Parts: sequence; structure tokens; C-alpha cells
Amino acid sequence: MSGSVAIVGGGLTGLALADRLHAAGIDFQLFEARDRLGGRISTARRGADWFDLGPSWFWPGQPRMAALVQRFGLNVIAQYSEGAQLYETAKEEVIRDRGFASMQGSLRVHGGMGAIVEALASALPLGSAETGRAVQSISADGTISFADHGACTFGRVVLAVPPRVAAEIAFAPELPHHVQSALCGIPTWMAGHAKLVAVYDSAFWRDDGLSGDASSQLGPLAEIHDASATTGGALFGFVGVPATARAGQRDAVIDASVAQLGRLFGARAMKPLAVYYTDWAEEVGTAVAADRAPLMHHPAYGRPTVLDPAEGSRIYFASSELAPEMGGYLEGALAAADEAAGWVLGMMPG
Ligand SMILES: Cc1cc2nc3c(=O)[nH]c(=O)nc-3n(C[C@H](O)[C@H](O)[C@H](O)COP(=O)(O)OP(=O)(O)OC[C@H]3O[C@@H](n4cnc5c(N)ncnc54)[C@H](O)[C@@H]3O)c2cc1C
Repeated sequence: MSGSVAIVGGGLTGLALADRLHAAGIDFQLFEARDRLGGRISTARRGADWFDLGPSWFWPGQPRMAALVQRFGLNVIAQYSEGAQLYETAKEEVIRDRGFASMQGSLRVHGGMGAIVEALASALPLGSAETGRAVQSISADGTISFADHGACTFGRVVLAVPPRVAAEIAFAPELPHHVQSALCGIPTWMAGHAKLVAVYDSAFWRDDGLSGDASSQLGPLAEIHDASATTGGALFGFVGVPATARAGQRDAVIDASVAQLGRLFGARAMKPLAVYYTDWAEEVGTAVAADRAPLMHHPAYGRPTVLDPAEGSRIYFASSELAPEMGGYLEGALAAADEAAGWVLGMMPG
């Protein structure tokens, strides 16, 4: 196996890299720690409906995302944004038409972002992407060993995991201190967030002239948008309560969020058919303890030069956070995969 490539991590970066290597005829094996592929992409399914608990949007001007959805024939839908936006003050006062539809122009994928994951995975050779395979240690000779059991040696190892998550893997020999601290210093985009989706039998707020967009000084949801899928209606919100304060408070956060949706959108909003909630700060494989500190702005991502692979190194760090452009976003994950593929192909003999 020493001529082949190990891809550690089956998020969008890892899957897109696998896709690139497959197209180039390079032998690879992808190992994903979770029991599912997609990483931060996570789409709940309910009958014909689909609800994104990770990323919901891509945007015009992101050519790799546009090409991917086109290649797989996925339908793109505009974020619903017709009607008034609501604003909730800290004193429970609801003001109509304050501000503007904040995500107008954002694009969703019919079937959710999970549809991209499914399409990429189904285009890979059978058995080339293994789930439930957490990589525990990596040696400089390309040997990776797994948390459950076993080890394999590869010619190249691409770590398609967020930098802080990569820093938790045991390297032999240990990574130089400046490399380790560079990895730990790069926050994982959105890892400290939690997202809630409330599902209804119809998008009844639209009948009241509301877009579903709302922002709140009171919370627990700080920002709310329409998340309606194929049937019925849905609203989603980003939880504004910091990760440390909401830890272990799942039921309380859900109850308070549903009550808040009632304050904003009326009594019908207090009777969802289903509620989905993911606290990404609690997700092993995405967040580390440092990610509980809220990020105040989108970091200036990109690969610090200390993370450039040394001459002859078999190990390469990827992930959206290290992308040459659009770091942190889905488009960044695809850009990171392109860059990693360039490294692999450039390194391959002949
Ligand atoms: C709530 C939320 C909302 C977001 N909204 C948007 C949005 O609207 N638009 C947008 O463009 N972006 C958004 N993002 C960011 C987007 O999700 C990421 O940019 C993208 O998914 C990153 O992909 P990735 O493959 O680089 O990393 P990840 O998706 O984090 O994938 C890394 C993978 O590595 C696996 N892994 C970790 N450790 C190991 C190990 N030791 N062994 C094996 N596998 C391992 C993980 O389980 C994971 O599957 C959002 C993210 C979140 C959390």
C-alpha cells in the first residue's frame, strides 16, 4: 500500500480530494472517524424533506460549488427572503421591518448540502471511503494507526481535518513546536456554533407577509431564517448562547427556542412537528475545547508557511481553514482539495 494515498477525514475537503484522485487514477483510501461522511455538512431527513444542521448556503461567485452542483444535476434554490424581517429587543418587544433580509441572494441546494456528500461518495470506488475509522497516530514514514485497531502504511497522508483537530492526533516523531502551535492557533469556522431547525406543516409566516428572517437581542436564537424544504415549512436559527453556557442544556435550549419562535411568529410556531438541534461545540472531530470561545469575526484563513510540507514529507495538512481562498467556507474546502490534489500529483513519481 505504500504507493497509495491515505485521506484522513471525510468532510467536503476529503471527499473532493478523493474525487480528484479517483479522476486522476491515483490509488487512495479515505478514513472517516464518524459513522457518516460529510463532517460539518449534516443534513437531517424527514420524509421528502431535508434540513441542514451544518452549512445551508453557498453564494454567487463561488465557482467550485457552482460546478459541483451542476455536475451532479442538483437543483439550486434561492434562500426565501420575501416579506418583512423581525427584530426582537432584549425587552421582548418585536419590531417588524427593522433591517433587511440578511441572507437574500444566498443559495441552497435542493436535498440539502448532504446531497453533495451523497453524490460525491457514490462516485467513488466501492469501499474506498471507510467510516468509523478514527486515526489516532501518524508516523513520518506514512504509517497511520486507528483508534479501534490496526495500522497501514501509505506513500502520502493528507489530513483533511480542521487544523486544531489535526493537532490532537499523535505524530511520531512529535510535530515541531511551531507547527503544533500554528495548528492550534487556527480556529475552526463555526465549530463553536449550535443550530436549531423547527419543522411545521406549512410556512405559515409567509401568509403574514414575513420572510422568516429575524434577529434577536434576547435569544436564545440570535439569527433566524426560513429553512423550508420540499413540503410544509421550517425555520432555522443560530443559537446565540455561548458554547460554555449551553453545554449540557440541550432540552432547555430547545424549549426556550421554541418559546422564542412563538413570540416572534405566533402561537403556531410553538407547535413544531419536529425539532432538530446540533451543538457543534460538542462534536468530536469538529471542535476542541478552544473552539468554545466565540469567534467575533471571520478569521483571515490560509496556510501559514510553517504548515507547508517539508521537502520529502509524506504528510500534508488540508481543510477549508487552510484554503488559498474562501477559507472556512464550503468553497474553501473545495479549494483546499484542489491544492492537496496538486501536492499529491506533484509528488507522484512518473
Ligand atoms: C453550523 C455551521 C454552519 C455553516 N454554514 C456554512 C454556510 O452556510 N456556507 C459555507 O460555505 N460554510 C458553512 N459552514 C462551514 C462549512 O461547513 C465548512 O467550511 C466545511 O464543511 C469544511 O469541510 P472540511 O472537509 O474542510 O472539514 P470538516 O467538515 O470538519 O471535515 C473533517 C472531517 O474529518 C473527520 N475527522 C476528524 N478527526 C479525524 C480522525 N482522527 N480520523 C478520521 N477522521 C477524522 C471529521 O469527523 C470530519 O468528517 C458552516 C459550518 C457549520 C458548523
